[in-house]
Amino acid sequence: MAGAYDDREGVIWMDGAFVPWSEAKVHVLTHALHYASAVFEGERAYGGKIFKSREHSERLLTSCDLLDMPHPYSVDEIEAAKAATLEKMGMTDAYVRALAWRGSGEDMGVAAKRNPVHLAIATWEWGAYYGDAKMKGAKLDISKWKRPSPETIPSAAKAAGLYMICTMSKHAAEAKGCSDALMMDYRGYVAEATGANVFFVKDGEVHTPEADCFLNGITRQTVIGMLRDKGVRVNERHIEPGEMADFQQCWLTGTAAEVTPVGQIGDYNFEVGELTREIAGDYEKLVRGLVPA
Ligand code: PMP
Repeated sequence: MAGAYDDREGVIWMDGAFVPWSEAKVHVLTHALHYASAVFEGERAYGGKIFKSREHSERLLTSCDLLDMPHPYSVDEIEAAKAATLEKMGMTDAYVRALAWRGSGEDMGVAAKRNPVHLAIATWEWGAYYGDAKMKGAKLDISKWKRPSPETIPSAAKAAGLYMICTMSKHAAEAKGCSDALMMDYRGYVAEATGANVFFVKDGEVHTPEADCFLNGITRQTVIGMLRDKGVRVNERHIEPGEMADFQQCWLTGTAAEVTPVGQIGDYNFEVGELTREIAGDYEKLVRGLVPA
């Protein structure tokens, strides 16, 4: 399956029914399109089972709460809709995108209480997010954009509006031949990449930014648990950019990125070391159900 994302074969689940893929449309006066009133999830199914499916559905509804949007469906209904979509699409290994948004309605100003909230679920095949970086380590730019304070925006939500600076950061990175950008936060600490969390290794210990102003990824939490189970010390703390000079290994985590080794961030270099390879391999086994969750 290839081509433009609005012109593919198959179906998309929209508000309780399947519609042909190319007909899953919204009106230009959709509130979300003007004011970013949209939240979403990115999930992956492995062998027919979505990894941490329920956690993703719960996070979607938490994101709705954070944006003052009523829940369009319950967690159980979303779970059933995701499973039905995968089945209808005949997919077992796929990326799953659930999206909730304020539609068009009687309101066209900033306030939108009278406009309905919709839900759509689409699935497609999506390979390695960073191409061949899994083997040799991704190259990252350092973004000029800073992750905002939680007093500026609901930073714990997986909300469309938070990705505006991510798209700009990634465009700038790609123009320099990098596959992503590392973003600092509003205080100048290391935060995360544009769609993935970051981890560093120094002398056998792991350091990762405290998730106090960006998405506390489900993969991030999973990987922290895996490391602690292995007896590896994980330090969740504020990290100064200059500390990267002393870090030996680095990787990114995310549903799309899975565990991707990083070889370079700006002028800082990292080796694709043993712990990085081990965690990437262990994560792969875990999501495929080859080891107990
Ligand atoms: N940060 C951002 C900005 C993201 O978009 C994602 C991907 N959802 C992540 C972190 C990682 O989150 P998760 O592990 O839940 O996919």
